[in-house]
Amino acid sequence: MSKLFSKDTRINHSDYVAPSGFRAFPEPTYRASTVLFDSVDALRSRQWIGRDSYTYGLHGTPTTFTLEAQLAEIEGGKHAVLAPSGLAAITIVDFAFLKSGDDVLIPENIYNPNRELGDWLARDFGVSVRYYDPMAGEGIAGMLRENTRLVWTETPGSVTMEVPDIPAICRAAHDREALVVLDNTWSAGLAFDAFGHGADIVVQAVTKYQGGASDLLMGAVITRDEELFRRISMAHMRLGMGVGADDAYMVLRSLSSMKVRFEKSGESAMQVARWLKERPEISRVLHPAFPDCPGHDCFLRDFTGASGLFSVLFDERYSEAQTDRFLESLKLFGLGFSWGGTHSLAVPYRIRPDRRDWTDRQHQLIRFYIGLEDPQDLIADLEQAMRVLG
Ligand SMILES: *Cc1c(COP(=O)(O)O)cnc(C)c1O
Repeated sequence: MSKLFSKDTRINHSDYVAPSGFRAFPEPTYRASTVLFDSVDALRSRQWIGRDSYTYGLHGTPTTFTLEAQLAEIEGGKHAVLAPSGLAAITIVDFAFLKSGDDVLIPENIYNPNRELGDWLARDFGVSVRYYDPMAGEGIAGMLRENTRLVWTETPGSVTMEVPDIPAICRAAHDREALVVLDNTWSAGLAFDAFGHGADIVVQAVTKYQGGASDLLMGAVITRDEELFRRISMAHMRLGMGVGADDAYMVLRSLSSMKVRFEKSGESAMQVARWLKERPEISRVLHPAFPDCPGHDCFLRDFTGASGLFSVLFDERYSEAQTDRFLESLKLFGLGFSWGGTHSLAVPYRIRPDRRDWTDRQHQLIRFYIGLEDPQDLIADLEQAMRVLG
């Protein structure tokens, strides 16, 4: 840079221009808060909402736009917006589509923080929030009101794994002009075609298989519809839900191998689940592929595969203290929340006391996530830990 400027300035303004023509597989990581414009006119006429120009780092960079396009592609959607976590993606949907006086229906078994948000909207924001039996199917028609704006769904339900009849719920909701939003995290957008089965909006916790290594948090809201995308984008902008470029890059890096990881994790989980089902300590395996799982017929009809996440109910003779000791005796399974990474995990869940559809309270529930370890080693680990049950 010209010696006309002092060193302080030259340190900050390089005139080196890297030669064009660099090629490599990874999408470059563009980090930016400030985005530069070529002219005042370009700055003044900026359009932040589309994905064909840049305005500010918060609204997107080539890295985040590329990830959004990839996530929309996986889901069979058209548009995606990224959020700093799966829960943030859920928040965007509620704030985009609900206002004081509106009604929203949420299944009893939904990912619990979604209920927390619903309770808050009911308490402080004048939204009518009602919880429905996830197995209601067409029966949900009887619950829809004039002001029902949104119907939340999740398949299978977090932790207890019921598979709802999504097409039936969508038909009933659409008859009353309510929107259906589906948390499709369990399937990673791979094993369940949410839009094909009628959902209007899809939420993904990108933290899970998309991130793939338990080292980042991200979420996405995906749709096919231009007007819904505009509403989602407005909420995304107003709530300031940007994501960091490095996290976006890491997800892009993981996405290429997601399908292989998902399939391996799902197959290993089936092996482990089948072994658990034969154990006298276990009273029930809650996995959609098992005939005694509520909604198993919908799973067979609508899904093309299964993820590595399922739960078990212990026989009722075991106390919480006993199953806690079982958990602490596991050597390969980590004890912690979230899932979708390379490592297997186990978590105990206490079912909310206000869940009206849950009747198995006398049984301890543990949720397993099966990662990429050898399933035989995982089974051996479960077997040795079960010895502490006596
Ligand atoms: C983990 C999870 C979320 C939330 O994702 P975070 O990134 O942890 O906020 C939402 N829905 C489901 C079904 C999940 O498993």
